[in-house]
Amino acid sequence: MRASFFSLILAAAPLAAHPVQSGPEVVFDLERVGDGVYAALSRRPAPPAVSNTAFVVLEDGVLVVDSHMKPEAATVLLREIAKVTDKPVRYLVQTHHHGDHVGGNPAFPGAIDIIAHESTRQTLAQWNPTKARLPNAVIRDGITLFRGREVRIKFTGRGHTAGDLSVWLPADRILIAGDLLFNGGYIGFMKDGFVGDWIATLDALSELNPKTIVPGHGPLATPEDIRTFKAYLIAFRESVREHRARGESLEKALETYRLPKAYRDWGMQDMALKDNIRRVWEELKSE
Ligand SMILES: [Zn+2]
Repeated sequence: MRASFFSLILAAAPLAAHPVQSGPEVVFDLERVGDGVYAALSRRPAPPAVSNTAFVVLEDGVLVVDSHMKPEAATVLLREIAKVTDKPVRYLVQTHHHGDHVGGNPAFPGAIDIIAHESTRQTLAQWNPTKARLPNAVIRDGITLFRGREVRIKFTGRGHTAGDLSVWLPADRILIAGDLLFNGGYIGFMKDGFVGDWIATLDALSELNPKTIVPGHGPLATPEDIRTFKAYLIAFRESVREHRARGESLEKALETYRLPKAYRDWGMQDMALKDNIRRVWEELKSE
């Protein structure tokens, strides 16, 4: 088919986000971040979406990264994918085991492969919020797919959990980072994390020098945002260390702790700050 004038205009249209609704509710903003690469960005950390997802159109199917919190949100995502391509969804990559990234799994068709780090599968085998089937393809360090485009599914070290995967599209320089990156001023969840390792893992992501990053939460990001989040992790860890160095008990530290000034207005403190302090406190014990 010859390209019509209209389709040329469409192809040249600037990348733009558009809100996707289910009834009156905006579930996420869908943004085209590259040729055949889309991000579904949640506006707020509340159901049904909570987290961001992404999908990549391959020559013979679609690879989806994460499934949102609820099957309702995943159903909306699958509907949007069908508007972009008639190719079937073939892969679902789970960046990690948290409910806001795997909760939508039951909406996915049964014939797909679910790819996760082996530790994510182990965790889901013990605790699976979706009661859905477990990942059926596990990786330890990574796997590269060649399906009309190169897709590297990578484990670059522990961080937000023991088994965070990211998806790297080298030709497009697009990185889908999962919760290794909270962007836009969120303190992040460290409860299942390894904060010391996380700092080094972020360096490995920076070295890729991505053009565009889809974070697990928050707006699209750049390498500068990785540096900002890394500086925060370092400052947070140091500030908890100071409480320990003063000889405080954990209970006292939980009462008196204040985030370093630069991060005092960052979001998610209600749901995560105390757990984050406990986690780093535990980690520092073995230093
Ligand atoms: Zn998470």
